[in-house]
Order: sequence, then structure tokens, then C-alpha cells
Amino acid sequence: MSSHKGPAVAQGNRAPTSNRAANTVELAELRPMLEEKVLTLSLQAHHAMEKMEEFVYKVWEGCWRVIPYDVLPDWLKDNDYLLHGHRPPMPSFCACFKSIFCIHVETGNIWTHLLGFKVVFGMFFLGAVLCLSFSWLFHTVCCHLEKVSWTFSKLDYSGITLLIMGSFVPWLYYSFYCSPQPRLIYLSIICVLGISATIMAQWDRFAMPKHRQIRAGVFLGLSLSGVVPTMHFMITEGFAKATIVGQMGWFFLMAVMYITGAGLYAAHIPERFFPGKFDIWFQSHQTFHVLVVAATFLHFYGVSNVQEFRYGLEGGCTDDSLLLAAPKGAGGTSQMLLK
Ligand SMILES: [Zn+2]
Repeated sequence: MSSHKGPAVAQGNRAPTSNRAANTVELAELRPMLEEKVLTLSLQAHHAMEKMEEFVYKVWEGCWRVIPYDVLPDWLKDNDYLLHGHRPPMPSFCACFKSIFCIHVETGNIWTHLLGFKVVFGMFFLGAVLCLSFSWLFHTVCCHLEKVSWTFSKLDYSGITLLIMGSFVPWLYYSFYCSPQPRLIYLSIICVLGISATIMAQWDRFAMPKHRQIRAGVFLGLSLSGVVPTMHFMITEGFAKATIVGQMGWFFLMAVMYITGAGLYAAHIPERFFPGKFDIWFQSHQTFHVLVVAATFLHFYGVSNVQEFRYGLEGGCTDDSLLLAAPKGAGGTSQMLLK
């Protein structure tokens, strides 16, 4: 515990009176210097704080300053009620992308759709990845032990319900893009139905071979719940818009694929007509698998088109007649479809 200071202090206490007086004079002379030093240090600290604040501010603003509406070039002037907080013309795409993380008039517009896109399509991709992964895993390990087979069959069926639910989310989100209330209702219903079917898939009897028809019925019922929003869209928007904007043709083809696959699976077609002839290839389950993959791709294609149509418009809810009259700003696909 000893230190260098200990002996020095002890020595100071033993020093003669003349020495103490000299030390007092020296200290009195040093005081202004010390005070000046302290002042300089506090000024430096203050300056450093200011620099730090400036640095944080610059990072926050992405090293450029937002500018008022009046000084924007004409081609960047869009809404003269937004007076300040505009980005100046950016020198590169890179700078534009960096500005995603800065605060300006477009920040909210960027993030609402960036997150919307990720979450909405994320549900679809998650459903597809889980469904296809659980499926191949089940078919691989089902020959191991009875317990393993039961467990993975439950995962396999859960994957199917999650894919159906995940497929509905972006489709409903972009189809009812301009009708938030029905969109919320349909999204809530499909989530409740999908989660209920997933819970049902955990039931031991659900996976039994003799309940094949019940399984097919649950998957089919879940998919066919899409008929209600489809009819709603067709009645409110009309057949033409349902075909062009809603991409109903593709979704109809997708539904045909799923229903055909589920029907063949439930009825054991074609092997029931030619027992022993389809033991390895072309049995009903394989056809069902292939149709599920094809329908998933088709669904993705259809939803991407609906999404492109929505994002290609000013706010996504422009009237069709305006669109036909002035296709400026419309997405490539929508323009092409409307021609
Ligand atoms: Zn399977």
C-alpha cells in the first residue's frame, strides 16, 4: 500500500519554517498559472464538446445539409407546402442510398415502404422456406423412428399452413392497398385461420393416414378462404381492374394448381387406378409437390406485379382513368398491361 507521496508529505511536515514560507510564496505565484491552465483546459473541453456535437450532427445529416424548398431546382420541387428539410441534388446513386439513414422530407416515404416491402414479402418468403424445408426434411427422416416421423409430419403440415398464410399476406396487402379497413380485416382473418390450422396440425390424429381427406380439406378450406376477398375485389373494382391491377388471371391459375394438387393427393390419383405402376415416379404426392412449387412461383410473380403496379403510381391509389390518360410515373408492367 505504500506510495511515492507518503514519504514526501512526511518530509514536508518536518521542514523548517523558512522553507514553508518560501513554499507559500511559490504557491501564490503558481496560482494564476494554475487558474489559467484550468481555464484553458475547460475551454478546450468545451471546444471538444462543440466539435463532437457538430460531428454527431454531420453524421446525422449524412455530411450534407437539408435545404429549404425555395432553393431546390425545379425538377426537385414537388410539394410547396413542405418548406424545409429537402435533400439537395445528390451527386450519385450511392449518396442517395446513404441518405436513407438521414432525416429529410423523403425519410418517412422511404422507410414506410421499405419496411412494408420487407415485412409483407418476408411473410411469404418465410412461409415458402419453412414449408419446403419442413417437407424435404420430413420425407428424408420419416423412415427413422415412429416418433420422429410423427414429429416431422406435424412440421410438414404446419409448413403448408404457414405457406398458405404467408401467400395471402402480400396478396391482400397490395390488392387492398387503397382500402385499409378491408385489408386489415382480411389480413386478421387469414392470420387467425392460418394459426388455427397450424395448431390443428399439432394434433396427433391430424397426421394419421386415415385422416388424409380431413388434412386436404383443411388446406383446401384455408386456400379457398381467398374466394371472399377475391369476390370483394371484383365487385368493388370491376373485372378489368381485377385482371390488370389484381393479376387475378395468375392467381386463378395458381388456385387451379393448388386445388388439382390437393385433389390428386387426397384421392391417390393416379396410383389408385394403376396400383404398383407409380411406386417410384409420378405418384400423387410427387405431383402435389411439383404443383405446390409451381404455384408458389406463380404467386410470387403475380404479387410482384401487383406490388410493382402500386409502387409505380403516385401513392399507389391513382384512379385508372387518370392512369390511362397520363401513364407518367406508372410502373413498367402496369404501363405494358394497360396498353
Ligand atoms: Zn410431402
